[in-house]
Amino acid sequence: MVSSRFAAIAQSQTRNSIAIEEKGRRSELFGINVFNESKMLQYLTKDALESLKGAMVSGSKIDRKIADQVAEAIKGWAISMGATHYTHWFQPLTGSTAEKHDAFFDLLPDGTALEKFGGGQLVQQEPDASSFPSGGIRNTFEARGYTAWDPSSPAFIYGTTLCIPTIFVSYTGEALDNKAPLLRALSAVDDAATAVAKYFDKNVSKVNATLGWEQEYFLIDKALAHSRPDIMMTGRTLVGETPAKGQQLDDHYFGVIPSRVLSFMSDLEKECTKLGIPVKTRHNEVAPNQFELAPVFEEANLAIDHNLLLMDVMDKIADKHHFMVLFHEKPFAGINGSGKHNNWSLATDTGVNLLSPGSTPMKNLQFLTFFINTIKAVDTYEELLRSSIASAGNDYRLGANEAPPAIFSIFVGTQLSSVLDELEGVSKGKLSPEEKTELKLNVVGKIPEILMDNTDRNRTSPFAFTGNKFEMRGVGAKTNCAKPMTILNTIVAKQLKDFKKEVDALIDKKALKKDEAIFNVLREYIKTSKRIRFDGDGYSAEWESEAKRRKLSNNRNTPEALNVLTSKESLALFQSMKVMSEVEVRARQEVDLENYILHTQIEGRVYNELVYGYIIPAAIAYQNILIKNVSGLKEIYGAAHKKFSEGQLTMIEEIAEHIVSIKKMVDAMTDARKKANALKDTKKKAEAYCNNVKPYFSEIRLHSDKLEKLMDNQLWPLTKYRELLFIK
Ligand code: ADP
Ligand code: MG
Repeated sequence: MVSSRFAAIAQSQTRNSIAIEEKGRRSELFGINVFNESKMLQYLTKDALESLKGAMVSGSKIDRKIADQVAEAIKGWAISMGATHYTHWFQPLTGSTAEKHDAFFDLLPDGTALEKFGGGQLVQQEPDASSFPSGGIRNTFEARGYTAWDPSSPAFIYGTTLCIPTIFVSYTGEALDNKAPLLRALSAVDDAATAVAKYFDKNVSKVNATLGWEQEYFLIDKALAHSRPDIMMTGRTLVGETPAKGQQLDDHYFGVIPSRVLSFMSDLEKECTKLGIPVKTRHNEVAPNQFELAPVFEEANLAIDHNLLLMDVMDKIADKHHFMVLFHEKPFAGINGSGKHNNWSLATDTGVNLLSPGSTPMKNLQFLTFFINTIKAVDTYEELLRSSIASAGNDYRLGANEAPPAIFSIFVGTQLSSVLDELEGVSKGKLSPEEKTELKLNVVGKIPEILMDNTDRNRTSPFAFTGNKFEMRGVGAKTNCAKPMTILNTIVAKQLKDFKKEVDALIDKKALKKDEAIFNVLREYIKTSKRIRFDGDGYSAEWESEAKRRKLSNNRNTPEALNVLTSKESLALFQSMKVMSEVEVRARQEVDLENYILHTQIEGRVYNELVYGYIIPAAIAYQNILIKNVSGLKEIYGAAHKKFSEGQLTMIEEIAEHIVSIKKMVDAMTDARKKANALKDTKKKAEAYCNNVKPYFSEIRLHSDKLEKLMDNQLWPLTKYRELLFIK
C-alpha cells in the first residue's frame, strides 16, 4: 500500500544532473528564435519595415497589403528555422496562455502541397472560444471570439511552432483576455504621462511603463511530486507534518545551488535567452528547494509576455530534468511561499526613467512629480490595487508573516519622507525668489545625494520605493502580471491626468509659473495622501489596527477583495480611462470568483480523497497492528499485560479519536460544499466556499498531521515534507 511513496523516493535517488553545454556567449544566443529588428531588416521590404515599426511603437494600423508582406517574411524566416506550425498565442482569463496550432502546410485544389501563411492568418484567427471563461460576455452578446495580432510583442519560435502574440476579443469588441485591457491601460498611462513629462521636456513623445518581475518557485523531484495526489491536483500540499528542520537555519537562502538544479537553470536560461527573455539573476530562496529567477526589466507588455512564456518553458525544461515546478503561492505549510515582485517605473522615449532623480533641480522636480502622483494614485485606489492580486492561492500567503499584508501602504524611506515633509511647507500661490532658491538648493537639489546613500530597505512593505522604481510585492507567483499592471497603470494614468488639469488651471487662472503651480499641487497631494505612507513593520499587529484607524482596506480573502471592482468609482475609472467597459469589468469579477470557487472546490474534493483513500486506511492498518500486539501481550501475560501495553493502548485510542474527528470534519466539509454548490449567485457561492467550506481544511489537516506524527513511518502513505523538500 505504501509502496508508491517508497518507490518514488527510490526513483528520486537515481537522478543525475543532465550536462548542459555552455558553448558561446549568451549575447550571441539572445533572441535567435525571435522575429526581432535584425530579422526584420533582413526579411522585410523598406515599406513593410516602416509600417511594422510604426505599429510597434505607436500602435498605428497596418494595411492588408503590408500584412501580407510581413506574413510572407515571417513565414520565410520561420520555415528556415524549422517551424512547421503557427499559432496565435493569447492570454485567456484562466490566467495562463493558450494556443491552437495550425500547420503551414496546405493543399491547392489541384493537389499541390505547399507552405501557406498570409496576412489574414497573421492578423486574425478564430479559435473555438467556447470553452474559455468569458464571465457571461459571450452569453450576453452571442458573440464568438477572435484573436488579433499584437505587433508590439514580436513573434517567436517555440519548438517547431511560430507563436504570434495576440489579444482575444469578442466580435462585439469586448476583451476576453488579460492582454487587451493591459494594452489599453498602457496606452492611457502613455498619454497621461507624456503630457506631464512635456512640462519638463518638450521632446518627449512617448512614455512606456517598465516592468521587471522576480519569479519565485519550488522545484520538486518529479517522482516525489507525482506520488502526492494533492500536489498533482492542486499544486500544493494539503496535509503534511512540518519536518524537524525547515528553513529555520537559513541555510538555503543564497546558498550553493545544488548541481541538478543548476543544470536545470542553465538549460532554462539558454532556452529563455534564445526566446529573447533577458534572464539575469538566479539564486536559492528562503525555503528549502525554493528558487528565484529575475530578468532585466523591459517594456511592460513585453515583460508580461515573457513572464508567461517563461512559466511555460519552465514546466517543459523541468520535466526534462525530472523535476516539477510549483508556482503555487503556498505549496507547503510552515514554510515560505512564492511571490512575484513587480518592479515598475515609467520611461520616456528620450531615455529618461521618470522615477529616477536627476542631476538638476528641474529633473528632480520631474522625479517628484511622478513619485508623488504615484503615491496619490495608490492612496486613492489602494483597494482596487489589492483586488488585482486576489486569488485562491494568494489568500494563503498574503499577511502570513512572509509576504506583505493584504493592507496596501507605501514605503518611501526616511530621507524621502523628510523631503515630502519639507515640500508640505511650501507657500500657497506664488513663491518668493528666496523660497524658490531655498527649494532648489536645499530640498529638490539634494535628492540625488540623499538617494545614493538611502540604504534603508523595508521587506514588509507591499509597495516600496527602491531608489528608481516602485516594487509591488504582494503579487502571487502564479499570477499573470497583466492584472496588477493593468490596474496600476490605469490608476497612475488617471492621477496624472487630474494633476495636469490642476496644474494647467493654476497657470491659466492664477497666473502662476509652471514650477510654482507644480509645487502647489504636489503640496496638496502630499497632505491628502499621508495615510498611505508607512515605513514601519507591515507584519505587526499594531500596523493592522493603525491601518484600520487610517481607514485603509484590509480584505483578507478573494471574494471580499473582488467587491471593489464593480463599485461606482471603479467602473467610472475604467470607463473614463477607456480601459474596460462595465460589461468587461463585471465579466472579470465573475471569472475571478468562479476561479476561486473552482480552486477551493478541487481542494475540498482532494481532501476527501486523501482522507478516505489514504489517511484513514493507513491509520486503521497501523491501529490493527497495535491491537494485534496488545491481544498478543494479553495472551502471554494475562491480566499483567497492562504493564506492557499501556503505551499501545493510549496510541490505539489517540488514533481512534483522530479517525473519528477527521471523518466528521471531511463529512461536514462535504455537506458545506453541497450547500455552497446549490447557490446560484456566484458571489454568494464564493463567499460560502470561503466562509463555510475552507475553514474545515485546516481542521482536517491538523488531524492528518497528528496521525502522521503518531504513525509508523513505513506505513505512512504520503511522501513526507522532509522528502519533498530535502531530496535534491
Ligand atoms: P534588488 O536590490 O531588489 O535586487 P535590482 O536593481 O537588482 O534590485 O532590481 C530588481 C528588479 O527590478 C530586476 O528584475 C530589475 O529588472 C527590475 N528593475 C530595475 N530597474 C527597473 C525599472 N526602471 N523599471 C522596472 N523594473 C526595474
Ligand atoms: Mg524584490
